[in-house]
Amino acid sequence: MTTKQQQLDDIQAQLADNNVTPELAKQAQNMVFGEGNPDADIVFVGEAPGRFEDEQGRPFVGASGKFLDELLASIGMNRADVYITSILKYRPPKNRDPLPAEKRASLPYLQAQLEVIRPKIVATLGRHGLNCFLPDLQIGVVHGQPQHYTLESAGGAAADPLVLVILPLFHPAAALYNRSLRQTLIDDFATIPGILAQATKHDTRN
Ligand code: URA
Repeated sequence: MTTKQQQLDDIQAQLADNNVTPELAKQAQNMVFGEGNPDADIVFVGEAPGRFEDEQGRPFVGASGKFLDELLASIGMNRADVYITSILKYRPPKNRDPLPAEKRASLPYLQAQLEVIRPKIVATLGRHGLNCFLPDLQIGVVHGQPQHYTLESAGGAAADPLVLVILPLFHPAAALYNRSLRQTLIDDFATIPGILAQATKHDTRN
């Protein structure tokens, strides 16, 4: 039986083979597919790799990643407990916003990652992550408010849909130098253990 990590490795290989977002791939030093615990209960979804992520091929290793590590520690977690990825797997030039077409092309691979990991919570970091699942919601209004979401399986009618809680969070980069947003993000993070406990109680797999 293939392990979840092997399945994730296969998705990563497909992403490279299928030449997804070729313009970005051409300029990038590395693909930043995502990393962490394939059995995680929570997956964090950022926007796109930045300079340091591109250099290292790892998600959230720059200043916002350091802050994300602090936020995880504030709830007694670390990277080994969670899975971290972004919508786009290649750095946009000069860190510009992802284009709608780039998000559309990358989304099936994020969805495939989630279908393998089958987390209880998807914590979106920033508006792009939120709006790729729930396009009508505004991060400034719904941050910290868990949203129920069903991810229909791309694997055909036989595969189970994935029932998730989406937790909209501000992006750590936006909160780094803004004192009140920083506190809001810390407060929203503090709700994660309780949401996880609730999700575990309702999870029929347990
Ligand atoms: N910001 C993101 O959204 N993703 C990363 O991997 C790094 C910074």
